[in-house]
Amino acid sequence: MKQMLNYIGGRYVPPVSGQYLENVAPSTGQIYSLVPDSGPEDVEMAVQAAEAAFPEWSAMPLERRYDILRNISDGISANLERLAQAECLDSGKTIAAARAIDIPRAALNFKFFATALLHFASESYHMPGALSYTLRQPLGVVGGISPWNLPLYLFTWKIAPALAAGNCVVGKPSEVTPYTAYLLGEICREAGLPPGVLNIVHGLGPKAGEAIVRHPKIRAISFTGSTRAGAEIARIAAPMFKKLSLELGGKNPNLIFADCDYERMLETTVASSFNNQGQICLCGSRIYVERSLYERFRHDFVERVRAMRVGDPADPQTRMGAVVSKGHLEKILSYIALAEQEGGRILCGGQRVYLPGPLADGYYVAPTIVEGLPLECRTNQEEIFGPVVTIAPFDSDEEALALANGVPYGLSATLWTNNLRRVQYLSTRLQAGIVWVNCWLLRDLRTPFGGVKQSGVGREGGWEALRFFTEMKSVTIAET
Ligand code: NAD
Repeated sequence: MKQMLNYIGGRYVPPVSGQYLENVAPSTGQIYSLVPDSGPEDVEMAVQAAEAAFPEWSAMPLERRYDILRNISDGISANLERLAQAECLDSGKTIAAARAIDIPRAALNFKFFATALLHFASESYHMPGALSYTLRQPLGVVGGISPWNLPLYLFTWKIAPALAAGNCVVGKPSEVTPYTAYLLGEICREAGLPPGVLNIVHGLGPKAGEAIVRHPKIRAISFTGSTRAGAEIARIAAPMFKKLSLELGGKNPNLIFADCDYERMLETTVASSFNNQGQICLCGSRIYVERSLYERFRHDFVERVRAMRVGDPADPQTRMGAVVSKGHLEKILSYIALAEQEGGRILCGGQRVYLPGPLADGYYVAPTIVEGLPLECRTNQEEIFGPVVTIAPFDSDEEALALANGVPYGLSATLWTNNLRRVQYLSTRLQAGIVWVNCWLLRDLRTPFGGVKQSGVGREGGWEALRFFTEMKSVTIAET
């Protein structure tokens, strides 16, 4: 059985306790590897390694830092197939998605921030008799904690800007999907990243994760995960005045108007509902359709979703793989039962899917569409994070807006309309950090990324990420 190790000070090392967690492949429900069950002692070692590496890394000429981060990007690309297979095994996502999205985007994260560091600048102001400028300096040792749904992509989305800004990192991937982060250590070593600049500690959130959050020498925490864990992290980190970036849950609305480009909208709405089994924080899980289009949409949407094949994630033809864990499978099924109790009609799906042979114990759920639920019910208010969407009609722009904004979350929203006035009106009033118009998941890495309300605080992406991982100092020099 595969035994993973922590990556600390440029070496793969076992956890101090010698304890490991069992890691299950969601496609088969079988244990396939052991993951370090790390704790505060391992985090302490990682912090010491990072502190020791900081003077050299932060003072390194930018071109050299650029070269190393580019090498990591190239290393990820060169290992695309190996990483995609690891991610498919670890998370149950389809090999097609891992090859096309997760791994290439992880490589792009390093490429993007490698080039960004060469152009990162800060302001200077002249006034009569003095010059003032803003100095942005790396923080020192920073922490990155990431979830299981896009394992390598979201892990690198934190690590790449932190390193580019000159920090040393203690990172913790999700204990549910550790494999690609484990392989990243090797890629970083081969890319010439000095020992201790990036340290990867595996383990449970309340143990290894909390040890990172509590460590007094870790100056900033960049966290992506659930709103519940984000609140806990904020509670611990706030009195220590750490910098915090929290990217949390969502319950994203799609607003579909009768004047949209229908075919494009339909195809994209199937993807935005069910890609990665609905386990993307940006998936639209509440679909609201203008009443004059509702019947047609409902018919076509249900037909397309019924035709989706749930299958072996390792088969390149599969579009719907496994959900990430037994616990998550049970959570999704419990929400489907709740939707029915709340009066929802299941238009398609609604049950666990059993595949034959070695996949018999895997965690598969049929893509599910529910109709007839009010906004206030739990199914429409709480994040399910699986292949379950609700649909409902609306009669006016105002009603669509009220439905969209009527939840505690505010991560993203998608608008389908060709009416420019409506786009302007709604996009300024939608309570969401990201609004897509006639598209979904189209990302320009230079734009700020993040949510409002219970979807988080802080912004990642572009200059925002580099700024987050630096501290500012204003220097004013008087003429002498
Ligand atoms: P999670 O909160 O359970 O875990 C995320 C990470 O935090 C894991 O590494 C976990 O070990 C760690 N963790 C958990 N409790 C912790 C604690 N008390 N202290 C420190 N670390 C802790 O989330 P998950 O189930 O892995 O991921 C799914 C969630 O992530 C969903 O809510 C989804 O919406 C959200 N998500 C948000 C974004 C975004 O950009 N807003 C992106 C992806 C996923």
